[in-house]
Amino acid sequence: MRVGILGGGQLGWMTVLEGKRMGFEFLVLDPDPTAPASKVADRWLPPERVNEFIKESNVITYEFEHIEEEILEKVYDLTLPSLDILELKRSKIKEKELYKKLGYPTPDFVTACWENLTEKVKAFGLPCVVKAERLGYDGKGQYRIYHPEDVEKALKNHSKEERFLIERLIDFSFEFSLIGVRDARGNAKLYPITVNQHEDGILLYNHTRAFQIREAEDIVLSLMENLNFVGLLAVEFFYTWDGKILVNEFAPRPHNTGHYSLDGCYTSQFENLLRAICGLPLGSTKLKVPSGMLNILGLSLKELDLNNLLSIEGVKLYWYGKEKRPRRKMGHINITANSEQEIEERLERLVNLIYSHEPS
Ligand code: ATP
Ligand code: MG
Repeated sequence: MRVGILGGGQLGWMTVLEGKRMGFEFLVLDPDPTAPASKVADRWLPPERVNEFIKESNVITYEFEHIEEEILEKVYDLTLPSLDILELKRSKIKEKELYKKLGYPTPDFVTACWENLTEKVKAFGLPCVVKAERLGYDGKGQYRIYHPEDVEKALKNHSKEERFLIERLIDFSFEFSLIGVRDARGNAKLYPITVNQHEDGILLYNHTRAFQIREAEDIVLSLMENLNFVGLLAVEFFYTWDGKILVNEFAPRPHNTGHYSLDGCYTSQFENLLRAICGLPLGSTKLKVPSGMLNILGLSLKELDLNNLLSIEGVKLYWYGKEKRPRRKMGHINITANSEQEIEERLERLVNLIYSHEPS
């Protein structure tokens, strides 16, 4: 089986590494031959050679969302999850409207254009969050508005053609995510819940929790069914202080909060994506041991205290080999232990070891 992956980032890298173990072959389409997945694929191709990429792939999937329109049109027939679903995800406005249509709880929102953003924010009420409709990730294109003048920053960073989502700022008790996988026959499985700790809009660490939230499970299963979804779908939620859940967003691809599954589950999210899109039976999503994951943001390998880090039991280091930039996801650590409490203790030790100063 030859799988084409659009995008050469770390999600593709882990998909390739997991798939190669099972005898899959991979083509990666990315402008950068030194991107993590480009380096480990059987074949790297730049976007200009998309026709070759299509000809040689049995099935195509994607590991990031912001792909050029022209390429999407060309790969449409071979791509799973369906690009119609990616299209929803590429617009934060369409995505929210879908939740509303399907009756899922989500923070209240209105939409705005560049011209009327200030006015709409005022009418909506503060505090709120302004999110650019397109191209946001890791908190980019996202603005917390506590004072009317905070809108200026959003206006300055975006062009007059852009649209925005204005969303209620939720004072949540915690954030969690739920990852589902579904095959073409409609078989679906859910991974365990993870509780996620973000800092400045970017995931810092997460860990599994042995409780179930039925309403969230129903939403993920219903979303996959409604979309006739084939592949891996991650949904992020807020859990409010009064025990309500709200859908924040979905991602139709492997998710940062599912990296722990490489070491914590019988089948990783990457392997299950491949199984789902290649028509193979889905693997067990069950947890083997309590697990967690910590992102390494904006640091080089040299800046890590490997002696101490690797002395902690249950630590597995994943290093993507990317050029260092402030707050960029450079690698992650998966951690397993005998109890959830032990996971939390080890995560705290890891955070202290890695970020004895602020994450840079
Ligand atoms: P991702 O990299 O996950 O795709 P993103 O930048 O597209 O991220 P979100 O997931 O919407 O955007 O937001 C990132 C984080 O910002 C959330 O996980 C949450 O911590 C915070 N956040 C987003 N929206 C809200 C909100 N309405 N109220 C409170 N916090 C929010
Ligand atoms: Mg998110």
